[in-house]
Amino acid sequence: MTDHSKIVVFGGTGLVGSAILRKLVEKGYKNILATYHRSPITDHRSLITFIQIDLTNQQSVADFFKTHRPEYVFLAAAKVGGIWANNVYRADFIYQNLQIQNNVIHQSYLNEVKKLLFLGSTCIYPKNCPQPIKEEYLLTGELEYTNEPYAIAKIAGIKMCESFNLQYGTNFISVMPTNLYGENDNFDLEKSHVLPALIRKIHLGKCLEENNWNEIRRDLNKRPIEGVDGNAPKDEILRILDKYGIKITESDQLSVISDHFSAHYSPITDHRSQLTDHSSPITDNSSPITIEVWGTGKPKREFLWSDDMADACVFIMENVDFKDVISDQLSVNSKQLTTHSSPLTDHSSLFTVYRSQITEIRNTHINIGTGKDISIKDLAYLIKDIIGFRGGFYFNTSKPDGTMRKVTDVSKLHSLGWRHSIELKEGIERVYRWYLK
Ligand code: NDP
Repeated sequence: MTDHSKIVVFGGTGLVGSAILRKLVEKGYKNILATYHRSPITDHRSLITFIQIDLTNQQSVADFFKTHRPEYVFLAAAKVGGIWANNVYRADFIYQNLQIQNNVIHQSYLNEVKKLLFLGSTCIYPKNCPQPIKEEYLLTGELEYTNEPYAIAKIAGIKMCESFNLQYGTNFISVMPTNLYGENDNFDLEKSHVLPALIRKIHLGKCLEENNWNEIRRDLNKRPIEGVDGNAPKDEILRILDKYGIKITESDQLSVISDHFSAHYSPITDHRSQLTDHSSPITDNSSPITIEVWGTGKPKREFLWSDDMADACVFIMENVDFKDVISDQLSVNSKQLTTHSSPLTDHSSLFTVYRSQITEIRNTHINIGTGKDISIKDLAYLIKDIIGFRGGFYFNTSKPDGTMRKVTDVSKLHSLGWRHSIELKEGIERVYRWYLK
């Protein structure tokens, strides 16, 4: 990629897309287009041209490619959501994701895009696969039920990139990011992922604890919940917060007690201290607020700061070709591959090498993560400490846990030359500062 290469970021308003845009601008790329679907544009207006498009519409995507002729494509547009949304909107998740990726990948092939980066996700690996998750575990077992439709669509996207590369010699790379968080994350309590949902719930819990109604109303005006904004009466606001697990615990409703008693706060002095059921801990002290967390809190997850993810995506776009991720699978060594008579990224030579080797090529995607995981319970307490919330948590075990452990094996990524730089605590502090703006 050169400074003036025509680069398109599909999904430029999303968590990943906006982070990729920031990174491209930071690195001095000057010819950048971005697309959005419904979200208002807030960033980079002067530096990047934003175009509205529904990527599920085949004709619109074909027209876009004909008009703009991109050379490099980041496909960061997708229908994305947490466990609840994936489970309930099953049809939307499979249909919209298949449509978006079919349209963009196929048009990238027809219009001879030089390189495309497709985003998969680690949640599409089999639910019980060994840990840490290696690239080769894809399609080796049953998928997690709650996001099966989404996973099937994403796996189709990865196979589509791989197949176009093998049949037509395109240079389409798929990456498998772990859970991401960062600026422009989705804080909609109905649809968000666990980390932004916890940040918002704990923040609102802290505001309730401090009787800070100005901030509660500001928060709801910025991000209404089910249409309830900051102008609603207090009762209605309390009802909607309660519905989403930010609860004022009346002392006579308490049935459980803390197992995570914080040394920083005064000990429990009321009747709560006599209760002994530790199965669903409410922590801790004098605060009347509890935050509901879905599941047992035991599942372990890995989180990557979205700007680190963007850095990895741009690094791969700049430095990694399809031939680099398959050289170990071809029965020729990488020296032979790179000295092949014509560049392996043109439309015939890779195909020729592949056919002549008569070998199976699979799992050409690249995991992107930190390789470190944390339990949801410990995550909740980490966010609690960062935000300064004094109340406790109620782990609602009637809600699904999802896969019990998910941490990526990032050795392939490391061997290609990239490592993460922001650790979880620092990332949460940053995203909380951004959230408060
Ligand atoms: P977001 O929901 O934040 O952003 C999605 C983007 O896609 C938005 O720009 C949205 O536009 C756009 N979009 C959605 N539907 C359409 C459509 N029909 N036509 C055009 N644009 C559309 O998602 P993320 O940034 O979190 O995810 C991006 C990619 O990264 C996805 O492929 C996801 O699977 C992957 N990923 C994300 C992870 C995460 O933790 N967030 C983890 C692993 C993978 P608009 O906002 O205007 O509606």
